[in-house]
Amino acid sequence: MPDNEEAIAAPRTTKLWDIAPINGFSLALHGGAGGQIEELSSESRAAFEEGLSIAHGAGRSVLERGGSALDAVCAAVEQLENHPLFNAGRGAALTSDGEIELDASVMDGEGKAGAIAASRHAKNPVYVARSVMERTPHLFLVAPSTELVEGWGHETAEQDYFITEARVRQLARIQARDTAAPRHGTVGAVAYDKHGNVAAATSTGGMVNQQMGRVGDTPMIGAGNYARNGIAAVSCTGDGEAFIRGVVAYDIAARIRYLDSGLADAVKATIENELTQKNASGGLVSVGGDGRIVVAHNSPRMFAAYEDATGLVMMT
Ligand code: ASP
Repeated sequence: MPDNEEAIAAPRTTKLWDIAPINGFSLALHGGAGGQIEELSSESRAAFEEGLSIAHGAGRSVLERGGSALDAVCAAVEQLENHPLFNAGRGAALTSDGEIELDASVMDGEGKAGAIAASRHAKNPVYVARSVMERTPHLFLVAPSTELVEGWGHETAEQDYFITEARVRQLARIQARDTAAPRHGTVGAVAYDKHGNVAAATSTGGMVNQQMGRVGDTPMIGAGNYARNGIAAVSCTGDGEAFIRGVVAYDIAARIRYLDSGLADAVKATIENELTQKNASGGLVSVGGDGRIVVAHNSPRMFAAYEDATGLVMMT
């Protein structure tokens, strides 16, 4: 586990891990770069690690048996959406009205993509985003109805399923301080499968205390999520507006494609140019077209998990 003490002391340096593929497949996931554990709840670090480990295991087992990168990222994100400590699905951050509005997107390396925003009923937004991709001629749907979600065979839930006590307390604290300070999270995964395909999926409740209707980078293809075979797959978390302005996920892919950069160099340059120099905070997980993993952030912390030659590595 990386030591975060130094990172907290110098929050705008880029911390980066560059990991060679080991199994003929790769998977990396993140659980957000915004919060500090003690701010959200009194849950121990072990609870976050348990959530990351379950999600990594779900994605890994798909890849191990030869399944697709797309199935793997969806399986991993589904677990993080179901876990109440992460900002997606159940336990997502609340809007200023104390409600949830969830965003998600998926993209595979062949260029297919789907996204939803301001979702209030889907238990697992990542699968609804995937259905937009697979079942409609469209790419991006806003506020999918209960009928639509259920018609596609996905589970729906009421607001009280999504809203946790910890999030209610967090919103109250932030509103009492009357602060505009952003509090974010988000979950996401990238994968490279045994067939050489990449995919990315990202899911969020957005920024705590955000105005109803606000949409960040998570469902925006190219900003918070991007995949292209032979180049890279990227899933982001952080100050959404900066990721949109910098088209961060695509900027990394473009550096690789047009400048012939390596994945780690591309990630570093994009974080420095589009986030650090603009005083924005966040991080990302990525896989290259060859399965190499790069995990990086300039925020004080980021929850993430990946596997290297020593086994499962969890960053909390
Ligand atoms: N990027 C997300 C958003 O702006 C929040 C986050 O990643 O924490 O909605």
